Amino acid sequence: MIKKVHLRLTLVCTAVTGAIVIAMTLLYLYVSESNMRENHYYAFQNDMNNIINGLKAQSVLSNYYLASLEAGGRYLVFIEDNGTPLLYGNIVENKERIELLEKVKDYYQSSYEISHSSVVSTQSSYHFDFTYTIAEGNFSMGQDFYVCVAYIPTGNGSLTAYILAPVSSFYRQLSRQRLLFAAVNLFSLVLFYLFFYRFTSHLLRPVVESQEKQNSFIASASHELRTPLSVILSCAALIPESDKEKQAQFCHTIRQEGGVMKRLLSEMLSLADFDSRGMDLHKEAHELDTLILNCVETFEPMAKEKNIRLSSTLPDSSLPLCICDKHKIEQLLAILVHNAISYTNEGGAIGVSLKYVKKRFIISVADSGIGISDEDKKRIFERFYRADASHNAKEHFGLGLSIAQSIVKQHHGKLKVTDTEGGGSTFIVELG
Ligand code: ADP
Repeated sequence: MIKKVHLRLTLVCTAVTGAIVIAMTLLYLYVSESNMRENHYYAFQNDMNNIINGLKAQSVLSNYYLASLEAGGRYLVFIEDNGTPLLYGNIVENKERIELLEKVKDYYQSSYEISHSSVVSTQSSYHFDFTYTIAEGNFSMGQDFYVCVAYIPTGNGSLTAYILAPVSSFYRQLSRQRLLFAAVNLFSLVLFYLFFYRFTSHLLRPVVESQEKQNSFIASASHELRTPLSVILSCAALIPESDKEKQAQFCHTIRQEGGVMKRLLSEMLSLADFDSRGMDLHKEAHELDTLILNCVETFEPMAKEKNIRLSSTLPDSSLPLCICDKHKIEQLLAILVHNAISYTNEGGAIGVSLKYVKKRFIISVADSGIGISDEDKKRIFERFYRADASHNAKEHFGLGLSIAQSIVKQHHGKLKVTDTEGGGSTFIVELG
């Protein structure tokens, strides 16, 4: 389940971030390509102006000048002197060049010449440029051209120049740039996936931990409930075939085990309540010393039964009121004092004290009991943890300190345990 959520989260995050990056890349590519195309075409127009000015300036066209225009394959230059093709340099009008010129002429005449000639006077020179993609045929210099058609009147007629600039290599450059961007995007998608896989795994860790805790809570709770339930079921099975005396004994055991289950369930419900409702406290101003005195009074008979001296030490001067949930603090004190009595041997002593230091209430419950090893101190606040599982198992489920800690946390306080001087344990509660 968590694995599926993890994978789904990773994919969603990767898809969303990837889509944003791809959209931005496409926008950048669009702007950059538009600029490149514009600049490329401007450069062509510039060159054409220079070439046409050169042609106009020469009364007799030099072979060398015309051949130099074709050098490097940048331009294909076709010149007609009064309609007759002019051959120059080493240029041989092969089949491909002738076919190319025919196509350009056809396209120019059908698309531009009529509209163009109507706005320019044939007495003066003019030139006209456009882009042309040849749909049919296969030409060694590619299918895409910038074309410039120039008309230059001369003393004995006119020159018509058709200058073609192949642009396939420029388009190949654009395609290479697109491929590069696609590769970069693909690579960033892989990086995003790896990053989000780790990131979401980090985010989900508390959920996984909480699920693990919940599973172990359920397992421990079932285990704790199974023992009294088995006793109840076996007593109930034996009742019909037993005599009156035994029946009364079984009924007593059933009631006793039922009580154990009830207590366990109410502690579990308390914890579940803390987990689900969290901050649902009824905080009001209360006198903490009164709550402590009440608690000591309640547990005095139990302590006396074990011959334990239970005392309280409160400040002489009156303390400020503590903003807290009265019932929760009573529950907290009861857990700590009950534990202290349970884990203190006969003849021991327990002291509950209250201090007010730096605007914090410090309650401590110190006993002279069996004490807690350093190893166990780290674990006693875990649910269902009992340092000595055999000790009073029917009364102690290992949930008391978990409940106590939840209460303290909800009051933004601290709960810690230390050793009592001379032996035993001291639980210290700090409340704001
Ligand atoms: P339990 O219901 O078992 O007492 P708690 O969560 O209250 O559960 O306590 C967890 C464990 O911490 C106990 O099982 C016990 O081993 C230890 N412990 C708690 N309070 C004391 C104490 N005052 N003295 C010694 N050990 C204690």
